[in-house]
Amino acid sequence: MAEREHEREREDVREHVRVAVIGSGFGGLGAAVRLRREGITDFVVLERAGAVGGTWRDNDYPGCACDVPSHLYSFSFAPNPEWPRNFSGQAHIRAYLERVTDTFGLRPHLRFDSEVLGMRWNGEALHWEISTASGALTADVVVSATGPLSDPKIPDVPGLDGFPGKVFHSSRWDHGYDLRGKRVAMIGTGASAIQIVPSIQPVVGRLALFQRTPAWVLPRADRRITGAERWLHTKVPATRTMRRGLLWGIRELQVSAFTKRPKELGLIEFLAKGHIRKAIKDPMLRAKLTPDYRIGCKRILLSNDYYPALAQPNVDVVAAGLKEVRGNVLVGSDGSETEADAIVFGTGFHVTDMPIARRVTGVHGTTLAEEWKDGMEALRGASAAGFPNFLTIIGPNTGLGNSSMILIIESQLNYMADFVRQLDTLGGGGKIALDARPSAVHAWSHGVQRRMERTVWNTGCDSWYLDANGRNTTVWPGTTAEFRKVTRRIDLAEYEVLRPPHRTEGRRGATVVGAGAGVGTGAAV
Ligand code: NAP
Repeated sequence: MAEREHEREREDVREHVRVAVIGSGFGGLGAAVRLRREGITDFVVLERAGAVGGTWRDNDYPGCACDVPSHLYSFSFAPNPEWPRNFSGQAHIRAYLERVTDTFGLRPHLRFDSEVLGMRWNGEALHWEISTASGALTADVVVSATGPLSDPKIPDVPGLDGFPGKVFHSSRWDHGYDLRGKRVAMIGTGASAIQIVPSIQPVVGRLALFQRTPAWVLPRADRRITGAERWLHTKVPATRTMRRGLLWGIRELQVSAFTKRPKELGLIEFLAKGHIRKAIKDPMLRAKLTPDYRIGCKRILLSNDYYPALAQPNVDVVAAGLKEVRGNVLVGSDGSETEADAIVFGTGFHVTDMPIARRVTGVHGTTLAEEWKDGMEALRGASAAGFPNFLTIIGPNTGLGNSSMILIIESQLNYMADFVRQLDTLGGGGKIALDARPSAVHAWSHGVQRRMERTVWNTGCDSWYLDANGRNTTVWPGTTAEFRKVTRRIDLAEYEVLRPPHRTEGRRGATVVGAGAGVGTGAAV
């Protein structure tokens, strides 16, 4: 009894906010700016680390840069005329996000060291109960912007625990460890590895690159943005808008080759093979590095110094996956043995098994991860059925194969803004919640999967776009313009409107008001 009293007391003092945003990368900061612009100031941004920046804070490995031009890879509402290069480095992007935080007055909303440990939907109060590393709170709406590239994935390699040397992941670089003169094994050939390899090759003793699958790599049209250009972009804002527009338009025109006519990408393969030939003279090595799948099936990588680095005498390309570790010997899946002092894993992230999903419990008492056991799906990339007032930024099938994720994030922010507006309008001062109808979620997901059949991502390669069942639950199979259009507004017919239960009726469930339809009763919580 006393415990229940105590529990009630604790609930009374628990902080309540209108919106809790999880994560302070591009998605979380963008959400914070957008909420303020909507006139909402009663919100917090929960961040597990001690600084903003998300993936651009965590990934500070040597050579880390963005392979999307900076004038496109930035918020439309926070242009930066001072970008130093076409493809800016991590330090510049991180500094940009710090500036956005200051410029838009986001600091008072930030809660650092506040990792979300768990959250549960309360169907009577129509809010989320959130437990974080810095305390508990409740929120009417949760915007999950944890991103797909937040939790590193290290393969379960037998014997790794017994490796006597240094081991770290690309996104958790140990800057205290001196690589000079060491025998380093780099595992993986994704976007991270191809930036790391040329940066560390000149300083390490020997570099062994474990390549399970070769990547298609195209030249990177990088250059310094001149002082004159920067002056022009500052003094005549229309010039930077035009620059962004051009970068966007070119990529929009490329989309149909990825989504409808993968055969057209054959021409790009021709260019990519020329890129290999130019740097790699040894035919054996060239053969190892030449992919045998359609370009674009895995993400196309951009680099001018990756192949030249692989041609250096202190580099060995082991054309195999890492299968086992025996002491300081790395055994490849081809049976090869390589001694190493350090292992760097460039093996990617938990993308299709979003870690936050295990911590979110919805109306049926199940977690989002349980609901998604057969694959992630969310209405318009944002709303999962049974998880009312919960929106994901960079949710299922919102990724891009060839353009800037910031465009997608901004579309999802439009959707979020309309969602919150609808809660106000329909609630009329009282509390309500919107829960995506399962039929709407399935119809959306089915439509996306049907379109996926024709895409280059379904042409037979294995990639991080695909989940454990081989389903592409990560990429948006259309243009960014189309995504903008379909996320401009909430379609209320796709949601159930939940209202607080009438206590006098002695029910625990929320009342469900069908949008524009009849009135029914919702599932008990
Ligand atoms: P990734 O693209 O998921 O690549 C992981 C790599 O690890 C793959 O080459 C994979 O081989 C390999 N791998 C996994 N297990 C292995 C094993 N046991 N032995 C050998 N190789 C193994 O990871 P990432 O490079 O860190 O990139 C992650 C994400 O960040 C991607 O979305 C990427 O585009 C993004 N990123 C973007 C930029 C940018 O410039 N915008 C820069 C860096 C990263 P398989 O190919 O055979 O699976």
